[in-house]
Parts: sequence; structure tokens; C-alpha cells
Amino acid sequence: MRLKKYQWKLKRREFLREIGAGAAIVAATACTSGKAITSQKTEKKQYGMVIDTRRCIGCHACTVACKSEFDVPLGVNRSWVEYTEKGNYPAVQRTFLPRLCNHCSDPPCVKVCPTGATYKREEDGVVVVDPDICIGCKYCILACPYDARFLNELTGAADKCDFCLHRVKQGLVPACVNTCVGQARIFGDINDPGSAVSQLLAENAVTVLRREMGTRPNVYYISADHADETDAEYQNQYVSVQTNRKFAKRR
Ligand code: SF4
Repeated sequence: MRLKKYQWKLKRREFLREIGAGAAIVAATACTSGKAITSQKTEKKQYGMVIDTRRCIGCHACTVACKSEFDVPLGVNRSWVEYTEKGNYPAVQRTFLPRLCNHCSDPPCVKVCPTGATYKREEDGVVVVDPDICIGCKYCILACPYDARFLNELTGAADKCDFCLHRVKQGLVPACVNTCVGQARIFGDINDPGSAVSQLLAENAVTVLRREMGTRPNVYYISADHADETDAEYQNQYVSVQTNRKFAKRR
């Protein structure tokens, strides 16, 4: 009898748990207020970005805003825009690919850092560098498959995009998002089903850079042209990638 009562209690508890989870999902789907949805969430935050290349006009406003926000030295960038020219005359086209750190869920830069200066923040998944701990060994710069890092000559430490954490902490969006004239960059919590980024991810086919590297990037692209010079070799067409990065080929 006692066992039966316990089993009933257990079933009831499971049932209530299911109902609770269901209610949370319904609330998340139906509610349009990000604040209300946040209260229903159980998962940790993971900040990310969706870049809708259809809206990018290659103006570099984001590049300049980022440079200005962090006083980035000449010749290096935390964020930048690549131009891809593809095709044979007269069927040619130019597309744009905004770039930044992907704040990977499995970041190789973190694994190689000998001092722990580079780490992924528990609270929001942003990959950061502590310049006070960094010894400037450049391991992370080589390990990043996206060429997202550089050695900042002013600090002597590795540097890269941090999603403008100083702004985000104050409820603002990153500088590049704020300045984008076409609203091509959309920032938010990927684990919040009510966020603009989550909705874009749900409604659009997206790609990430170099998926084969297994880094699980948190920057997603809509309608991106990922062509690089190697495509020219087998597609028998002209491909040129203009980037302000030091590597000739796209990384
Ligand atoms: Fe690290 Fe590069 Fe991934 Fe950024 S893009 S988290 S620097 S591996």
C-alpha cells in the first residue's frame, strides 16, 4: 500500500514536471516580451550573433565603430568585412562577409592558452582574454581557425572581439550592431527562445564558418557566400576575397 502511494506520488510529480515544462514552452512561444521569457528559461545564456548578409552593404561602419570603441591599433581588427568577387564576366557578383570572433562553444584558443588568460565565461558563453594574465605567447592566435585574434601592440596581450561586454552589461548592444545601417548584425541570447537571434535562427537557413573544424561557432550567417580562392580552382571561375587580415586565404 505504501509502495503504491509512493508510485502514485512519483507519477504525479512526473506529470506536474511535464506540465510545467510544457507551460514554459508555451509561454516562451506566445510571449513577445524578452523579460518575461527570460524568467521561464532554465538554460544558461549563450550570447551569439546572426549576420544577415542580405542586409549588409559592405560600408564598414561596423569595422570603424569597433576600432573606435576599443582604440584598436592600425593594421589589426577585432571585427571586419570581407569582400568576395565571384564569377566570370559578365556574370559577376560581389558579396560581403562581416567577420568577428565566433565565441565558439568548443574554442581551440582556450585549450592552448598556457596561463588561463583566455577562457569562456560561464555566465554568458563569451570567450574573453584577460590582458593582465596573457603573456603574449600567440598560441591562441595560431589555434584560432578564423584568424579572429591578434597581438595588441599597446597591451602586449592577445586581443579580439568580446561582444562589447562593457556595453552589454549596461543593457546596450555591441558597437558594431548599434552602428550597422542595414541592421545586418543581430545580437542576443541564443538560448532564449524569445530573442531576436533565436527567432532568426528558427526561421532561416543559416551557416557557420568552417563547420568542419568542430568549434561550434555562435556566429551564424544568413545567405553568406563562403567562397574562397580555392573554389576558383575547381569551379573554373574567378574568385577573389579581399580581407584586411594578414592571411591571403580566408580563414
Ligand atoms: Fe577562439 Fe577563434 Fe573561436 Fe574566437 S573564433 S572563440 S578566438 S577559436
